Amino acid sequence: MVLAQLGGSIARALARMKDATVVDDKVLADCLNEISRALLQADVRFETVRDVKAGIKSTVNLDALAAGTDKRRVIHTAVAGELCRMLDPGKPAFTPSKGKPNVVMFVGLQGSGKTTTCTKYADYYRWKGFSPALVCADTFQADAFDQLKQNAAKAKIPFYGSYIESDPMKIAIEGVDKFRKEKCDLIIVDTSGRHKQEAALFEQMLQVSEATKPNLVIFVMDGSIGQAAFDQAQAFKQSASIGSVIITKMDGHAKGGGALSAVAATRSPVIFIGTGEHIPNFEVFDVKPFVSRLLG
Ligand code: GDP
Repeated sequence: MVLAQLGGSIARALARMKDATVVDDKVLADCLNEISRALLQADVRFETVRDVKAGIKSTVNLDALAAGTDKRRVIHTAVAGELCRMLDPGKPAFTPSKGKPNVVMFVGLQGSGKTTTCTKYADYYRWKGFSPALVCADTFQADAFDQLKQNAAKAKIPFYGSYIESDPMKIAIEGVDKFRKEKCDLIIVDTSGRHKQEAALFEQMLQVSEATKPNLVIFVMDGSIGQAAFDQAQAFKQSASIGSVIITKMDGHAKGGGALSAVAATRSPVIFIGTGEHIPNFEVFDVKPFVSRLLG
Protein backbone atom coordinates (compact mmCIF):
# COMPACT_ATOMS: atom_id res chain seq x y z
CA MET A 1 0.00 0.00 0.00
CA VAL A 2 1.06 3.56 -0.65
CA LEU A 3 1.75 4.35 3.00
CA ALA A 4 4.31 1.57 3.09
CA GLN A 5 5.92 3.13 0.02
CA LEU A 6 5.90 6.51 1.74
CA GLY A 7 7.52 5.01 4.82
CA GLY A 8 10.03 3.22 2.61
CA SER A 9 10.98 6.44 0.82
CA ILE A 10 11.40 8.41 4.05
CA ALA A 11 13.33 5.60 5.70
CA ARG A 12 15.60 5.45 2.62
CA ALA A 13 16.18 9.22 2.76
CA LEU A 14 17.23 8.85 6.40
CA ALA A 15 19.34 5.78 5.70
CA ARG A 16 21.22 7.57 2.95
CA MET A 17 22.64 9.91 5.57
CA LYS A 18 24.46 6.89 6.97
CA ASP A 19 26.54 6.78 3.78
CA ALA A 20 27.68 10.38 4.18
CA THR A 21 31.04 10.70 5.93
CA VAL A 22 30.03 14.01 7.48
CA VAL A 23 26.43 15.10 8.16
CA ASP A 24 26.43 18.79 7.19
CA ASP A 25 23.80 21.28 6.02
CA LYS A 26 24.03 19.96 2.46
CA VAL A 27 23.33 16.38 3.56
CA LEU A 28 20.42 17.60 5.71
CA ALA A 29 18.99 19.69 2.83
CA ASP A 30 19.18 16.69 0.44
CA CYS A 31 17.47 14.50 3.00
CA LEU A 32 14.69 17.07 3.57
CA ASN A 33 14.13 17.47 -0.16
CA GLU A 34 13.80 13.72 -0.54
CA ILE A 35 11.34 13.52 2.36
CA SER A 36 9.29 16.40 0.87
CA ARG A 37 9.19 14.63 -2.49
CA ALA A 38 7.99 11.40 -0.86
CA LEU A 39 5.21 13.25 1.01
CA LEU A 40 4.08 15.10 -2.13
CA GLN A 41 4.06 11.83 -4.06
CA ALA A 42 1.80 10.33 -1.37
CA ASP A 43 -0.53 13.27 -2.10
CA VAL A 44 0.03 15.13 1.18
CA ARG A 45 -1.05 18.78 0.85
CA PHE A 46 1.65 21.18 -0.28
CA GLU A 47 1.12 23.47 2.74
CA THR A 48 1.53 20.51 5.11
CA VAL A 49 4.73 19.35 3.39
CA ARG A 50 6.12 22.89 3.61
CA ASP A 51 5.31 23.01 7.34
CA VAL A 52 6.87 19.59 7.99
CA LYS A 53 10.06 20.65 6.22
CA ALA A 54 10.22 23.99 8.05
CA GLY A 55 9.54 22.22 11.37
CA ILE A 56 12.42 19.77 10.90
CA LYS A 57 14.75 22.57 9.82
CA SER A 58 13.96 24.68 12.86
CA THR A 59 14.42 21.73 15.25
CA VAL A 60 17.75 20.62 13.80
CA ASN A 61 20.52 23.16 14.13
CA LEU A 62 23.62 21.19 13.17
CA ASP A 63 26.05 24.01 14.06
CA ALA A 64 24.70 24.26 17.60
CA LEU A 65 25.10 20.56 18.38
CA ALA A 66 27.81 19.59 20.84
CA ALA A 67 30.77 17.67 19.43
CA GLY A 68 30.15 13.94 19.43
CA THR A 69 26.34 14.26 19.17
CA ASP A 70 24.81 11.65 16.89
CA LYS A 71 23.49 14.00 14.21
CA ARG A 72 21.71 11.25 12.33
CA ARG A 73 19.74 10.38 15.44
CA VAL A 74 18.85 14.05 16.02
CA ILE A 75 17.53 14.30 12.44
CA HIS A 76 15.65 11.00 12.72
CA THR A 77 13.95 12.17 15.93
CA ALA A 78 13.05 15.52 14.37
CA VAL A 79 11.52 13.83 11.30
CA ALA A 80 9.49 11.46 13.48
CA GLY A 81 8.39 14.39 15.66
CA GLU A 82 7.18 16.44 12.69
CA LEU A 83 5.35 13.52 11.10
CA CYS A 84 3.59 12.94 14.44
CA ARG A 85 2.69 16.61 14.60
CA MET A 86 1.33 16.42 11.05
CA LEU A 87 -0.99 13.53 11.93
CA ASP A 88 -1.88 14.33 15.53
CA PRO A 89 -5.15 16.25 16.00
CA GLY A 90 -4.03 17.22 19.48
CA LYS A 91 -7.14 16.00 21.28
CA PRO A 92 -7.96 12.53 22.55
CA ALA A 93 -10.78 10.61 20.86
CA PHE A 94 -13.68 9.11 22.79
CA THR A 95 -13.30 5.40 23.52
CA PRO A 96 -16.17 3.25 24.82
CA SER A 97 -15.97 2.06 28.43
CA LYS A 98 -16.95 -1.49 29.25
CA GLY A 99 -20.20 -2.07 31.11
CA LYS A 100 -21.76 1.27 30.10
CA PRO A 101 -24.41 1.51 27.36
CA ASN A 102 -22.19 3.28 24.82
CA VAL A 103 -24.07 4.38 21.71
CA VAL A 104 -21.96 5.03 18.63
CA MET A 105 -23.51 6.41 15.47
CA PHE A 106 -21.95 6.00 12.04
CA VAL A 107 -22.40 8.57 9.26
CA GLY A 108 -20.84 8.91 5.84
CA LEU A 109 -21.61 9.22 2.17
CA GLN A 110 -22.97 6.24 0.27
CA GLY A 111 -20.19 3.95 -0.88
CA SER A 112 -17.71 5.24 1.69
CA GLY A 113 -17.62 1.83 3.37
CA LYS A 114 -19.81 2.83 6.31
CA THR A 115 -21.82 -0.38 6.64
CA THR A 116 -18.74 -2.59 6.30
CA THR A 117 -16.96 -0.44 8.88
CA CYS A 118 -19.81 -0.71 11.43
CA THR A 119 -19.27 -4.48 11.54
CA LYS A 120 -15.48 -4.16 11.66
CA TYR A 121 -15.80 -1.75 14.59
CA ALA A 122 -18.26 -4.05 16.40
CA ASP A 123 -15.97 -7.04 15.83
CA TYR A 124 -12.91 -5.13 17.05
CA TYR A 125 -14.61 -4.29 20.35
CA ARG A 126 -16.09 -7.76 20.74
CA TRP A 127 -12.54 -9.10 20.80
CA LYS A 128 -11.84 -6.55 23.51
CA GLY A 129 -14.59 -8.08 25.66
CA PHE A 130 -17.50 -5.77 24.82
CA SER A 131 -21.03 -6.96 23.94
CA PRO A 132 -21.68 -5.05 20.73
CA ALA A 133 -24.93 -4.84 18.76
CA LEU A 134 -25.81 -3.34 15.39
CA VAL A 135 -28.84 -1.21 14.49
CA CYS A 136 -29.65 -0.52 10.85
CA ALA A 137 -31.22 2.96 10.70
CA ASP A 138 -30.59 3.20 6.96
CA THR A 139 -34.10 2.94 5.55
CA PHE A 140 -33.24 4.40 2.18
CA GLN A 141 -30.97 1.89 0.47
CA ALA A 142 -33.03 -1.23 -0.15
CA ASP A 143 -30.08 -3.55 0.35
CA ALA A 144 -28.61 -1.80 3.42
CA PHE A 145 -30.68 -3.89 5.81
CA ASP A 146 -29.65 -7.17 4.17
CA GLN A 147 -26.03 -6.12 3.93
CA LEU A 148 -25.71 -5.19 7.59
CA LYS A 149 -27.73 -8.26 8.62
CA GLN A 150 -25.44 -10.56 6.63
CA ASN A 151 -22.32 -8.87 7.99
CA ALA A 152 -23.70 -9.10 11.53
CA ALA A 153 -24.54 -12.78 11.09
CA LYS A 154 -21.06 -13.48 9.72
CA ALA A 155 -19.49 -11.77 12.71
CA LYS A 156 -22.09 -13.27 15.11
CA ILE A 157 -23.21 -9.87 16.38
CA PRO A 158 -26.85 -9.19 17.42
CA PHE A 159 -28.72 -7.07 14.93
CA TYR A 160 -31.87 -4.91 14.75
CA GLY A 161 -33.59 -3.50 11.66
CA SER A 162 -36.79 -3.58 9.66
CA TYR A 163 -37.83 -4.31 6.09
CA ILE A 164 -41.00 -2.26 6.37
CA GLU A 165 -40.38 0.67 8.69
CA SER A 166 -39.37 3.80 6.75
CA ASP A 167 -38.61 6.15 9.62
CA PRO A 168 -34.90 5.91 10.54
CA MET A 169 -35.45 7.66 13.87
CA LYS A 170 -38.07 5.11 14.95
CA ILE A 171 -35.76 2.19 14.15
CA ALA A 172 -32.82 3.86 15.83
CA ILE A 173 -34.81 4.48 19.02
CA GLU A 174 -36.29 0.97 19.07
CA GLY A 175 -32.94 -0.68 18.36
CA VAL A 176 -31.05 1.31 20.98
CA ASP A 177 -33.78 0.65 23.59
CA LYS A 178 -33.83 -3.07 22.83
CA PHE A 179 -30.06 -3.48 23.16
CA ARG A 180 -29.90 -1.25 26.25
CA LYS A 181 -32.38 -3.61 27.91
CA GLU A 182 -30.28 -6.57 26.79
CA LYS A 183 -27.28 -4.91 28.49
CA CYS A 184 -25.22 -4.54 25.34
CA ASP A 185 -22.44 -2.11 26.12
CA LEU A 186 -21.69 -0.99 22.56
CA ILE A 187 -24.72 -0.15 20.45
CA ILE A 188 -23.72 0.81 16.92
CA VAL A 189 -26.23 2.72 14.79
CA ASP A 190 -25.69 2.69 11.02
CA THR A 191 -27.40 5.64 9.32
CA SER A 192 -28.34 6.36 5.74
CA GLY A 193 -25.56 7.52 3.46
CA ARG A 194 -27.71 8.37 0.48
CA HIS A 195 -27.09 12.07 0.46
CA LYS A 196 -24.52 13.42 -1.88
CA GLN A 197 -25.14 16.80 -0.31
CA GLU A 198 -23.63 17.03 3.09
CA ALA A 199 -26.21 19.55 4.36
CA ALA A 200 -28.98 16.94 4.05
CA LEU A 201 -26.74 14.22 5.43
CA PHE A 202 -25.98 16.28 8.53
CA GLU A 203 -29.63 17.21 8.93
CA GLN A 204 -30.60 13.54 9.25
CA MET A 205 -27.54 12.83 11.32
CA LEU A 206 -28.70 15.48 13.81
CA GLN A 207 -32.23 14.02 13.95
CA VAL A 208 -31.05 10.47 14.63
CA SER A 209 -28.48 11.88 17.00
CA GLU A 210 -31.12 13.77 19.00
CA ALA A 211 -33.23 10.63 19.16
CA THR A 212 -30.48 8.28 20.34
CA LYS A 213 -28.08 10.63 22.15
CA PRO A 214 -24.90 8.88 20.95
CA ASN A 215 -21.70 9.11 22.96
CA LEU A 216 -19.80 9.28 19.71
CA VAL A 217 -20.53 10.06 16.07
CA ILE A 218 -18.05 8.48 13.69
CA PHE A 219 -17.64 9.87 10.21
CA VAL A 220 -16.59 7.22 7.71
CA MET A 221 -14.68 8.51 4.74
CA ASP A 222 -13.35 6.91 1.58
CA GLY A 223 -9.55 7.27 1.67
CA SER A 224 -9.29 7.13 -2.10
CA ILE A 225 -10.61 10.70 -2.39
CA GLY A 226 -7.18 11.97 -1.30
CA GLN A 227 -6.90 15.64 -0.40
CA ALA A 228 -10.62 16.23 -0.98
CA ALA A 229 -11.00 14.56 2.41
CA PHE A 230 -10.04 17.88 3.96
CA ASP A 231 -13.27 19.64 2.90
CA GLN A 232 -15.48 16.71 3.89
CA ALA A 233 -13.86 16.36 7.28
CA GLN A 234 -14.09 20.12 7.82
CA ALA A 235 -17.83 20.09 7.04
CA PHE A 236 -18.32 17.14 9.38
CA LYS A 237 -16.47 18.84 12.17
CA GLN A 238 -18.52 21.99 11.85
CA SER A 239 -21.77 20.02 11.99
CA ALA A 240 -21.11 17.71 14.91
CA SER A 241 -19.96 18.62 18.38
CA ILE A 242 -18.37 15.24 18.96
CA GLY A 243 -16.73 13.00 16.46
CA SER A 244 -13.95 10.80 15.19
CA VAL A 245 -13.08 9.72 11.68
CA ILE A 246 -12.44 6.30 10.16
CA ILE A 247 -10.73 6.37 6.77
CA THR A 248 -11.51 3.36 4.60
CA LYS A 249 -9.87 1.86 1.52
CA MET A 250 -6.36 2.67 2.67
CA ASP A 251 -5.24 -0.49 0.88
CA GLY A 252 -3.64 -0.02 -2.46
CA HIS A 253 -4.88 3.41 -3.44
CA ALA A 254 -2.33 6.09 -4.31
CA LYS A 255 -4.12 8.80 -2.34
CA GLY A 256 -4.14 7.22 1.12
CA GLY A 257 -1.46 9.53 2.50
CA GLY A 258 -3.42 12.48 1.18
CA ALA A 259 -6.63 11.53 2.96
CA LEU A 260 -4.87 10.82 6.23
CA SER A 261 -2.94 14.07 6.34
CA ALA A 262 -5.91 16.08 5.02
CA VAL A 263 -8.19 14.79 7.77
CA ALA A 264 -5.47 15.34 10.34
CA ALA A 265 -5.14 18.94 9.11
CA THR A 266 -8.75 19.52 10.18
CA ARG A 267 -7.66 18.41 13.68
CA SER A 268 -10.22 15.57 13.61
CA PRO A 269 -9.03 12.41 15.34
CA VAL A 270 -8.64 9.46 12.97
CA ILE A 271 -9.26 6.37 15.11
CA PHE A 272 -9.08 3.46 12.65
CA ILE A 273 -8.22 2.83 9.03
CA GLY A 274 -9.86 0.26 6.79
CA THR A 275 -7.39 -1.78 4.79
CA GLY A 276 -9.62 -4.17 2.82
CA GLU A 277 -13.12 -5.47 2.31
CA HIS A 278 -13.04 -8.11 5.03
CA ILE A 279 -13.76 -7.78 8.74
CA PRO A 280 -10.17 -8.22 9.99
CA ASN A 281 -8.90 -5.59 7.51
CA PHE A 282 -9.12 -2.90 10.14
CA GLU A 283 -6.31 -1.16 12.01
CA VAL A 284 -6.25 1.09 15.04
CA PHE A 285 -4.85 4.42 14.06
CA ASP A 286 -2.50 5.67 16.72
CA VAL A 287 -0.11 8.36 15.59
CA LYS A 288 3.16 7.49 17.38
CA PRO A 289 3.30 3.74 16.63
CA PHE A 290 2.05 4.48 13.11
CA VAL A 291 4.92 6.91 12.49
CA SER A 292 7.54 4.59 14.02
CA ARG A 293 6.29 1.78 11.81
CA LEU A 294 6.34 4.10 8.82
CA LEU A 295 9.98 4.99 9.45
CA GLY A 296 10.95 1.36 10.07
P1 GDP B 1 -21.68 2.27 2.43
O1 GDP B 1 -22.55 2.55 1.25
O2 GDP B 1 -20.95 3.48 2.88
O3 GDP B 1 -22.39 1.58 3.55
O4 GDP B 1 -20.50 1.31 1.91
P2 GDP B 1 -20.31 -0.27 1.99
O5 GDP B 1 -19.98 -0.70 3.37
O6 GDP B 1 -21.44 -0.93 1.31
O7 GDP B 1 -18.96 -0.40 1.13
C1 GDP B 1 -18.87 0.00 -0.22
C2 GDP B 1 -17.81 -0.86 -0.89
O8 GDP B 1 -16.54 -0.56 -0.35
C3 GDP B 1 -18.03 -2.35 -0.67
O9 GDP B 1 -17.70 -3.03 -1.87
C4 GDP B 1 -17.02 -2.71 0.43
O10 GDP B 1 -16.60 -4.06 0.38
C5 GDP B 1 -15.88 -1.75 0.10
N1 GDP B 1 -15.04 -1.42 1.24
C6 GDP B 1 -15.38 -0.98 2.47
N2 GDP B 1 -14.29 -0.75 3.23
C7 GDP B 1 -13.20 -1.05 2.46
C8 GDP B 1 -11.78 -1.01 2.67
O11 GDP B 1 -11.25 -0.63 3.73
N3 GDP B 1 -11.01 -1.40 1.62
C9 GDP B 1 -11.54 -1.81 0.42
N4 GDP B 1 -10.71 -2.17 -0.55
N5 GDP B 1 -12.86 -1.85 0.19
C10 GDP B 1 -13.69 -1.48 1.19
